[in-house]
Amino acid sequence: MLTALLFSAALTTPVLPPAIPWNGASRALAVPATDPWVTPSEATGFRTTPRYDETIAYLRRLVAAAPQLKMISIGRSHEGRDLWLVIASKERAFTPEALRRGGKPTFYAQGGIHAGEIDGKDAGLMLLRDMTVRGTKRELLDRANFLFVPIFNVDGHERFSRYCRINQRGPEECGWRTNARNFNLNRDYVKADTLEMRAMIRMLREWQPDLQADLHVTDGSDYQYDITYGWNGAAGWSPSIGAWLDATLRPALDRGLRAMGHIPGPLIFSDDPLTTGITDGQDDPRLSTGYGDARHLPAVLLENHSLKPYDQRVLGTYVFLEQILRVLAAEGGVLRAAAERDRAARPARIPLSWKAPDGDPPLVEFLGIEARHVLSPVSGDVRLEWTGKPVMGRVPFRVASEVATSVAVPRAYWIPATWSDVIEKLDLHGIAYERIAEPREVEVEMTRFAAPKYDAQQFEGHVRVTAPGTSEHRRERFSAGSVRVSTDQPLGTLAALMLEPASPDSLFQWGFFNSILSPTEYVEPYIMEPMAERMLAENPKLAAEFAKKVESDDAFRADARARLQWFYERTPFYDERARLYPVGRE
Ligand SMILES: [Zn+2]
Repeated sequence: MLTALLFSAALTTPVLPPAIPWNGASRALAVPATDPWVTPSEATGFRTTPRYDETIAYLRRLVAAAPQLKMISIGRSHEGRDLWLVIASKERAFTPEALRRGGKPTFYAQGGIHAGEIDGKDAGLMLLRDMTVRGTKRELLDRANFLFVPIFNVDGHERFSRYCRINQRGPEECGWRTNARNFNLNRDYVKADTLEMRAMIRMLREWQPDLQADLHVTDGSDYQYDITYGWNGAAGWSPSIGAWLDATLRPALDRGLRAMGHIPGPLIFSDDPLTTGITDGQDDPRLSTGYGDARHLPAVLLENHSLKPYDQRVLGTYVFLEQILRVLAAEGGVLRAAAERDRAARPARIPLSWKAPDGDPPLVEFLGIEARHVLSPVSGDVRLEWTGKPVMGRVPFRVASEVATSVAVPRAYWIPATWSDVIEKLDLHGIAYERIAEPREVEVEMTRFAAPKYDAQQFEGHVRVTAPGTSEHRRERFSAGSVRVSTDQPLGTLAALMLEPASPDSLFQWGFFNSILSPTEYVEPYIMEPMAERMLAENPKLAAEFAKKVESDDAFRADARARLQWFYERTPFYDERARLYPVGRE
């Protein structure tokens, strides 16, 4: 990189807090460099991670030697790279149908949705090898299947350099967070702008894994935990799945990780946890965990701690994946039953946001790192200096477990044929609907928006918008080709989260309906003046209403245009469909 040449050598490596010495039992999982099946990362003592081509070459060699493995491309990225999925099945059940017929639970894990956070790829290569050619973990495939995407964000992965992550301890070089069009794939689950995400959602629908793990590396504050993880809990859209994850998976993961010398912990979002405490909440469906929750696919988020060395993180990921396979082998049937309950539920209301209960939060033990708070001449504020010294604290733990806002679920949504791009999104997600062949008049509730509020900045390529609205009962004519989306289906909750304008990940808030928000016809004052006079003369009730508005509303009184607009909106010439959300609720 040209710019890098301008910097001194001291600036070409991240300035990180001290590393904490670690020598966990999971070190024994790595094979020596002389092993014929050593993975590229093991071969350099976990100093490096392999490029895309080297990764795929290793997998091809492994698949050729291991009858339990097959590799398929699930689609292509914007730069044309294949997204590879490895299927591990003892019975060689290499189609979705064959896998389902076998009846065993299927675990799906993905590496590199953020390509700089690539621990999952290198752990997965080791695990696939040990399950097959090396044979040390062969029994893992006895009672479960394993699906693995080593690199999800393949284009980001090949934007490869030593300047990929300023806050991460290894590998020496790695890929970039976002894809070739600068989209963050872990915000793209609902809107599915990217080719990579569309391929992924098709894969999830086809292969129907029983549990998904999305493998990341976090950054932020310093603490002792090396392997942090979490999910949407029982307060989310899949209460039975959330309860199973909390009650069954977490204790088993913690036990397995501790036994191998790791320090498992909860997801930590706080910059200064020992001072302010920690929080836990629910993810929106734009993220892998929230999306899984919305479609009743058990979904786990792994966030290895970026300040831990690469070998420790990769080996912890290996233990995490192995442990999930063991739990699924033993408890897969129970998890399936829980998911089935969530898929069969037809909630009358669904939550849109959550809050922590009132009152003092409980205190929990926290394995922190000592921090000095010192005045910074650079920022003029206080900065934290992590000393590397482990300390234990008791900190408040705020869990957003109470519903703050929710929305009623209608019997069905009606989407006019005109909104084909919206209907295509439903197709992608596998949401069922009925398409009418003839025009039909339907009694529906529709939302009339008041003034919209646009975000000042684009976000993920969209100008996001919110707008308050009032409900109108209408007899609406839907043209041929319009669709009725019943909420009486397993994906009813996902449909509501996409179509209710109050939902943060609705297509409305993502800006798909922005064109309806600006009235297009207008009136000149010299046209409106005489008509307003006529309306005042003819309609005493209207005149009284106008007089009251002028008297009580200072801004209105002073705004000549607004006063004329007030009359225009009360004529039959005004746009009857101004700011009318075209999706009806039955
Ligand atoms: Zn990430």
